[in-house]
Amino acid sequence: MTTQQQLQPIFILSEGSQRTTGKNAQRSNIMAAKAVAETVRTTLGPKGMDKMLVDSLGDVVITNDGVTILEEMSIEHPAAKMIVEVAKTQEDEVGDGTTTAVVLSGELLKQAEELIDREIHPTVIARGYRLAADKSQEILNSISEPISETDIATLQKIATTAMTGKGAEQAKDTLSRISVEAIRAISEKDGSRMLIDIENAKIEKKVGGRVEESELIQGIVLDKEKVHPGMPRVVKGAKVALLDAAIEVKNTEIETKIQVSDPAQMQAFIDMEEKMLRDKVEKVASAGANVVFCQKGIDDMAQHFMSKKGIYAARRVSKSDMEKLARATGSKIVTNLNDLTREDLGFAGVVEEVKVGNENMTYVRECKNPKSVTILIRGGTEHVVDEIKRAVEDALGDVAASLRIGKVVAGAGASEIELARGLRKFSESLSGREQLAVMAFAEAVEIIPRTLAENSGLDPIDIMTELKAAHDTGKKWAGINVFTGKIIDAWKDGVLEPLKIKTQAVSSASEVAIMILRIDDVIASAGKSGKGPEMPPGGPGGYGDM
Ligand code: ADP
Ligand code: MG
Repeated sequence: MTTQQQLQPIFILSEGSQRTTGKNAQRSNIMAAKAVAETVRTTLGPKGMDKMLVDSLGDVVITNDGVTILEEMSIEHPAAKMIVEVAKTQEDEVGDGTTTAVVLSGELLKQAEELIDREIHPTVIARGYRLAADKSQEILNSISEPISETDIATLQKIATTAMTGKGAEQAKDTLSRISVEAIRAISEKDGSRMLIDIENAKIEKKVGGRVEESELIQGIVLDKEKVHPGMPRVVKGAKVALLDAAIEVKNTEIETKIQVSDPAQMQAFIDMEEKMLRDKVEKVASAGANVVFCQKGIDDMAQHFMSKKGIYAARRVSKSDMEKLARATGSKIVTNLNDLTREDLGFAGVVEEVKVGNENMTYVRECKNPKSVTILIRGGTEHVVDEIKRAVEDALGDVAASLRIGKVVAGAGASEIELARGLRKFSESLSGREQLAVMAFAEAVEIIPRTLAENSGLDPIDIMTELKAAHDTGKKWAGINVFTGKIIDAWKDGVLEPLKIKTQAVSSASEVAIMILRIDDVIASAGKSGKGPEMPPGGPGGYGDM
């Protein structure tokens, strides 16, 4: 090879691509992940703070729900996005514990960074983390306690724990009772397993009234009134048609112009329109429907015809509500009115218009599928009901997760301290660098109690020392009373959480940490648009300055 050939640079990437390799790539990824974790860390626990998020349109969301914060933040950095995915997985799998999962991911990476600084290779750390993650499942399982669906008091404590510190405080008794009732109503027993489809519990919000006035309704509640005052207020023995088609003549997509030269022609035109609408209503009536939920519009004249036939109708029902109605009533959603037959109809014992506050809502009760329930959330303002809804979603998720797995642990930092203890013991059976990695993992798990203490304005060092001392004397549920700063028996105090929250948080946090650790090369292509790589300002390390 000549010197000249050696100096010739070789381009294997297209122009505009960005590439970071080796330690730089690792560092910037770890930094980005830590930055995400740091953002939500202050919201952890009952004394965690809230975030106010303002989107580009000026809409405001106030929350301390991990996944909500991260979703609203529109995060760009690829590694940071991976952390957001952890929160989403946690949300999908359990419905709660999102902040815990994210904070743990960040801390696992922070601990790993220290090991990298001590010249331990990332793949060795990854291997140690994998061992620790597997062991964690075993330890958490062994410390958990069983629970059954008849243990209502315990289930309510789980629901209360999920909602503590989430603006649901003054109504937590009502809301935890409702959450447990809802889950019990929708759960089915299959041998020894509990089948629970959260989709069967709908949450409807209504601004106005007090949070304590929230209620559980067996059936579906729609934020819709009947379209015409002449329609019946109550329909018993409802035969429900679900239409994803407008009961209108106009086709809004095509604009038509009709020129009429003589009044008779005009009349004929109006008559024809009327006949078409009459025919449409006749279709509905002859199929045997006495209740119609329409995803699109219903023409004024059609409303009038329907009311004359004693049909109850609501229009512009959302797609998700249509789907819930289909499940609840056993009705099929029909997209072409001409196809509507008797077989497509569903059934509900009662369809009724009910006045809630100042507005009317439609209640669909005694459904064909009795497993459909709606939680109607009341509250002073939009922001309040939104946050209560998120709290109730967490409670539903936790109660469901407790019953599905049938196992519960105590919170308030107790299970994390116990887990860390177990991991340290396990590390003694290992040697060398893997042992260090497992110990780092144990250290990382302790970020949860430490953060709970910090967020409560307590001294984390004192609290951690006291906590560990209590666990050393065999008090496995010793946790933090975040209100008094005392060490308590979290189980006796009713701070209970499903085992699944912890096992899921540990497994997804360790998976993402391991994945990020194994990356030593970040290549961002320029993309077809030529707009440059999808990277934050300042390249892959852009978030590093946060
Ligand atoms: P996440 O999104 O992870 O669920 P939260 O803000 O809901 O975050 O906080 C959950 C943490 O708060 C858990 O570690 C849980 O054990 C703890 N926690 C909940 N209620 C209490 C309580 N009454 N006292 C102490 N800790 C609590
Ligand atoms: Mg929570």
